[in-house]
Amino acid sequence: MKTKSLGINTICAHVGEVEDKQFQGAISPLYMSSSYQYDGVDVKRYPRYFNTPNQEALGKKIAALEKSEAGMIFGSGMAAVSHCMLAFLHKGDHVVLPQTLYGGTYNFIVEEFGKFGIEYSFAKGFSEDDFRSEIKENTKVIYVETPSNPLMKVTDLEMIAGLAKEHNLVSMIDNTFASPINQTPADFGIDIMIHSATKYMGGHSDICAGAVAASTEHMDKIWNISKNLGGSLSDYTVWLLERSLKTMALRVKQQSRNAKRMAKWLDKNEHIAKVYYPGLKSHPDYKLAKKQMKGFSGMLSFELAEGIDPNQFMKSLKLIKQSMSLAGVESTILSPTHTSHALLTPEERANQGIADGLLRFSVGIEEKADLIADFEQALMIVAVTA
Ligand SMILES: *Cc1c(COP(=O)(O)O)cnc(C)c1O
Repeated sequence: MKTKSLGINTICAHVGEVEDKQFQGAISPLYMSSSYQYDGVDVKRYPRYFNTPNQEALGKKIAALEKSEAGMIFGSGMAAVSHCMLAFLHKGDHVVLPQTLYGGTYNFIVEEFGKFGIEYSFAKGFSEDDFRSEIKENTKVIYVETPSNPLMKVTDLEMIAGLAKEHNLVSMIDNTFASPINQTPADFGIDIMIHSATKYMGGHSDICAGAVAASTEHMDKIWNISKNLGGSLSDYTVWLLERSLKTMALRVKQQSRNAKRMAKWLDKNEHIAKVYYPGLKSHPDYKLAKKQMKGFSGMLSFELAEGIDPNQFMKSLKLIKQSMSLAGVESTILSPTHTSHALLTPEERANQGIADGLLRFSVGIEEKADLIADFEQALMIVAVTA
């Protein structure tokens, strides 16, 4: 199947299926075997080699979604992040990272890189100069996350790919927040796309997985180290993730549409001080987001007006769950200060622009009217008692 010309929903529904030659079932059969014939076969299959029938099939779907040659599935988003970084960073090498990173990625770097003799530095901001000035003689990788968590800052992907080319670096993006539905970084020349498939790819808050898309050349290097580190995913979960991916475009488009409508509604509400969503014209990165994103994602953050207690507000919500993680079909809300960014000092949070009253809203697929009704009733309670 030529995947390049297929539309996004067709890729989600069809690409990379395991053909059921025995019974001609409509979906991929699940192969739970951890042991395969080794004699007289082209491929010696083993789950930790990432090459069971279901792993291989799902890799093809990930590759097509990210417009790349190859795809690989991992046991978690962090397995994908760590295996990719360690594939291209060796003792004495250096990586340039953005100022704001997913907490787990930040911890991996500051807690583990010293042991491997890998150097790193964080860009002071999001501009070309901010990234360029951190590039050194021994820099091998430039790594970004856009839109960022939780303030939805957008980094220019074409600029990052340009810097990588100029300095002969491998460029990597954690594309979790956008998902391949809203952003395909390969279009702008980024080398390696990384996902926590626990989020939009899984989409039902019931799977922990990771995914990577890249050229065959880059993927060979990632595979070489990954088979030693051993972060592969069980075939049952691989199969469940394939099922989830079939509806990813439908889900993410609805989530993004809802997020845009909710951002606009929140922006006009007297009890909301500030909204961070790249789909709002008032967002500083609106133009850039419009250029490189197909949709503005289902994630947004906002600050309540002074005097309203964020915890009391969250507890007053009935439909929207106060919960960790993101990207499920159900809307969830959390306080970054008490969860994802709890390990930072108050000064570090302030430097990143994360106010104590900031709330991150992962918008689900519910009807907009029901989401607004939930916000209204909660605001009624907390704004009165404030
Ligand atoms: C959740 C997340 C990760 C880590 O993924 P896990 O599946 O929890 O290991 C990495 N990056 C981003 C942006 C995330 O949201």
